[in-house]
Amino acid sequence: MLIKPIDLQDEPLHLDQTIPANSLDYTPDVRQIGPLAVKGEADLIIERRGHKEVVEDIRLRAIYNGDFELLCARCVEPVPKHLSGDFDLIFRPEAVDGDGKERAISEEETEIGYYEKSGLLLEHVVREQVLLSLPTRTLCEPDCKGLCQHCGQNLNQAKCHCDDAPADPRWNALAGLAQELTGPAGQTGPAGQIGPAGQIEKTSR
Ligand SMILES: [Zn+2]
Ligand SMILES: [Zn+2]
Repeated sequence: MLIKPIDLQDEPLHLDQTIPANSLDYTPDVRQIGPLAVKGEADLIIERRGHKEVVEDIRLRAIYNGDFELLCARCVEPVPKHLSGDFDLIFRPEAVDGDGKERAISEEETEIGYYEKSGLLLEHVVREQVLLSLPTRTLCEPDCKGLCQHCGQNLNQAKCHCDDAPADPRWNALAGLAQELTGPAGQTGPAGQIGPAGQIEKTSR
């Protein structure tokens, strides 16, 4: 939906839009899997600069919510996530602060965006807001085991055999030391031994 200043001349424009799933490209690890509802209002703000110049700014306030899929930072499996948020932003015509003109950017002004001659595309604004609202890191489970660094196996789904052979010679040394401490197998047996049926047989004393 393109918002043009001319549409806002007389009264604010009420927005009640639905952005269909998969219609916007976010980033490779973000996918919109359901309709994204956007409700809000667009107003025209007239900025007067000096005697003659009039700048038509668009103020866009809206809330959005929809279902997304983000990739787990460890195992790269898609993780469903409901995202919602609100914003209140001001957009100025692109040409106004163009090159060659003196302009002071105050702290508040850094939040100002720009719209093209054709108008302000609502979808672009919402897309950017969604991306800004994303968690810095998404995990499928807090204790996701991730992928094996050697074979790429998703360790949440199955174990791989990369770790079966000790890769580090230091582990061999440790294993040898452990055997020295416990002595040869059989000498320091436990009080009970595992019988054929898996039950612990009592040893007679
Ligand atoms: Zn994961
Ligand atoms: Zn592996």
